[in-house]
Amino acid sequence: MSENWQFETGAVRHQRERSSEGEHSVPLYLTSSFVFEDAEQMRARFADEEPGNIYSRYSNPNTSELIEKVCAMEGAEDGFATATGMAAVFTTLAALLKAGDHVLACRSVFGSTHQLLTNILPKWNIHHSYGPIEAPESWHDLVQNNTRMLLVETPSNPGVELLDMEWLGAFARQHGLILVVDNCFATPYLQQPIRFGADLVVHSATKFMDGQGRVLGGLIVGRQDLMEQVQGFARHSGPALSPFNAWVLSKSLETLAVRMDRHSANALAVASRLEQTPGVDWVRYPFLPSHPQYAIAKRQMIAGGGVLSFSLEGGIVQGRKFLDALRFCSLSANLGDSRTIVTHPASTTHSKLTEAERLAAGILPGLIRVSVGLEHVDDIWADLQQALLATQKPEPVTL
Ligand SMILES: *Cc1c(COP(=O)(O)O)cnc(C)c1O
Repeated sequence: MSENWQFETGAVRHQRERSSEGEHSVPLYLTSSFVFEDAEQMRARFADEEPGNIYSRYSNPNTSELIEKVCAMEGAEDGFATATGMAAVFTTLAALLKAGDHVLACRSVFGSTHQLLTNILPKWNIHHSYGPIEAPESWHDLVQNNTRMLLVETPSNPGVELLDMEWLGAFARQHGLILVVDNCFATPYLQQPIRFGADLVVHSATKFMDGQGRVLGGLIVGRQDLMEQVQGFARHSGPALSPFNAWVLSKSLETLAVRMDRHSANALAVASRLEQTPGVDWVRYPFLPSHPQYAIAKRQMIAGGGVLSFSLEGGIVQGRKFLDALRFCSLSANLGDSRTIVTHPASTTHSKLTEAERLAAGILPGLIRVSVGLEHVDDIWADLQQALLATQKPEPVTL
């Protein structure tokens, strides 16, 4: 991206060279492989002596354009695009860790990331410890001789808790750890972890990056030397993003900034109104002054993002009544869509955790997660408010 461009300009204008057709928008290269001019070119490409495409499992003009755009947004040196966010997380772990290594992760991670750490990596003798988000100083004691990686989410899913990335960067350097930040909730528009010392950033592009609930995708971007290992692993293990989904995502990113501005404004308004609503136990949103890490949010994010969580007095019983009373807000497992989505993590995305694991990760039984969409904020609020009122109606008495 041109050094002089603002984020928004790069998001729209960053592109690879166009073909002789002079197309304005990014063309779609639906091809599994590429042809060589002669035997010498074929040899040179395979020997990495000449840049260029070989096979779409390795690279494709659509995935390359997407990767270059996201690298520019994150301030990263290189990247790889994967079929899903979980492929990005798994590829990062599998490429950089070996048997006997240890990972330190923040306690609150995405449900499938927890499954990888708990049930899958131990098959290869890779183990982890969880550090509590509210007491990062205690993490010094969790670092072992074989700890290689620090894996965190900020804001976290679904608790919307934050970690101080500047502190994390210093902590990782002090202990010689690879710092990997899952930047899915914030997107590179709201925060850029590499500027605070992250070595790698992973994304589920399925969420706000696409922002319209159409495609799955993931990205890993960061330090050149680490990305070379990741790319080497990914080329042969095959988690590549499809050219079509990369093409969709390149177009999605052109509108990322305006979408995130509106998601954030709508979410802040909804969070503030919820906080003043009787029957609401607590509300968690990074840019609410009542958030325990509000000062950190203000330092490292330009806005609070589209996701908030809250709980009703009466916990899950009232929570389920609330979900059933919604009129247009969707009950769905996704987030980061133009449509407002409401979900109950304890019975869905995090249902595979034990009750004790959920509580440790801050997923209280009554926690409701709202991914605030791009509908008019008054309509979103009207739906939430009528559902809140419905939960307060006494049960009909049957005689
Ligand atoms: C959804 C999500 C993922 C996984 O992404 P998929 O595209 O669904 O595989 C990883 N991390 C976080 C924080 C997420 O919200």
